[in-house]
Amino acid sequence: MTDMTGYGIQDCVLYQDALHQMNLAGEVMRIDPNIIERLKYPKRALQVSIPVRLDDGSVKTFEGYRVQHNMTLGPGKGGIRYHPDASLSETAALAMLMSFKCSLVGLPLGGAKGGVRVDPTLLSRAELQSLTRRYATEISMVVGPDKDIPAPDIGTDGQVMAWFMDTFSQIKGFAIPGVVTGKPIVVGGSLGRTDATGKGVAFCISFTFDHMNKKIDKNTTAAIHGFGKVGIPAAVDLMAMGVKVVALGDVHGAIHNGDGLDVQKLLRWLDEGNSLVDFPQAEKMSNEDLLALDVDVLVPAAIDGVITAKNVHNIKAKIIAEGANGPCTKEAVQVLTEKGVFIIPDILCNAGGVIVSYFEWVQGLQYFFWDLDHINAKLYSILKDAFASVVECAEEYKTDMKTAAMVSSLRRMQMAMRLRGMFP
Ligand code: GLU
Repeated sequence: MTDMTGYGIQDCVLYQDALHQMNLAGEVMRIDPNIIERLKYPKRALQVSIPVRLDDGSVKTFEGYRVQHNMTLGPGKGGIRYHPDASLSETAALAMLMSFKCSLVGLPLGGAKGGVRVDPTLLSRAELQSLTRRYATEISMVVGPDKDIPAPDIGTDGQVMAWFMDTFSQIKGFAIPGVVTGKPIVVGGSLGRTDATGKGVAFCISFTFDHMNKKIDKNTTAAIHGFGKVGIPAAVDLMAMGVKVVALGDVHGAIHNGDGLDVQKLLRWLDEGNSLVDFPQAEKMSNEDLLALDVDVLVPAAIDGVITAKNVHNIKAKIIAEGANGPCTKEAVQVLTEKGVFIIPDILCNAGGVIVSYFEWVQGLQYFFWDLDHINAKLYSILKDAFASVVECAEEYKTDMKTAAMVSSLRRMQMAMRLRGMFP
């Protein structure tokens, strides 16, 4: 078999882990090997150079990517990541995960992802805007409301989406809100999108407790690794559900309070310009110690490859809710599964974001906007059904949740791929 070495996927842990997960599920469900052969590689990958004039007058060129993994179910969908470690292979792996995620939760969308190899915290606002506008221009031929719809991911936000949408609209000559999701409300964003991923994580945790016939009470504890776009709303909702959030961590370190952290107070503390690690009502701890806490629920909500063969033996949590994409490597998943840890798989656990992105896309196409209660109720019911379908697959195939999620997703993709057939 020939390998597409050009993508560099052989050396990308996230890609290899996604392939492993897919192969495992394929074996369990005895999938047609031709389907796996097609899904191993992205449909299309674009690599671009992004020259940016920096504030000091010099020009620096950054590398950017947009990868469309599979578009059998509909246009591509997936975020844009600004991160110093972004690469073509990582973007391809994340695009593949988006295909599985959209399929699993029943969206009429395929999987795609974008990235720029840059540390956005080192750029001024003007530099970030130039970078975004040039990146949007360079990939404009492959995106669009009917082709591929980007969204925020690590290092990007509503402002970046607004610049992206404006650039694309300037090129076409009229406003096209449906080209990206995760936009600020005033330029066509959807209510509930900002909190959707974290809210989905909290919903999935509550479904897990129901599934285990357990009640959330005052002794239920959680630790969250990554206090950002996903971790913050997850923490707020978990606290509202009565869970004691005993530890939280960000890039600078973690904090712990055995009686539970007051997340609202912490948010006010951060709003005043303070840092998480200096929060007075908690002790400092390392992120490694946070991951090893004996809690009911551990939420890795930062980045991929956080729980690995190296630290998996320290994990004591009974439930792991994968808020990030690929936070547990395949070796870690195997150990955790053998230990009987219940993993809520990333393609289910963090799908809230893309589900509300789908709502935003639909609202943008119709120029008709929904209220928040309707959005949250629809998000809840889509995730509840998807969770139930994964549990059903786990029971039917006597397998774990990670494999079952992939089986459920592959079933739908296989059906659509067979019906559409291969061209030519
Ligand atoms: N970047 C998010 C993810 O990984 C959201 C993608 C989207 O909203 O399209 O799921």
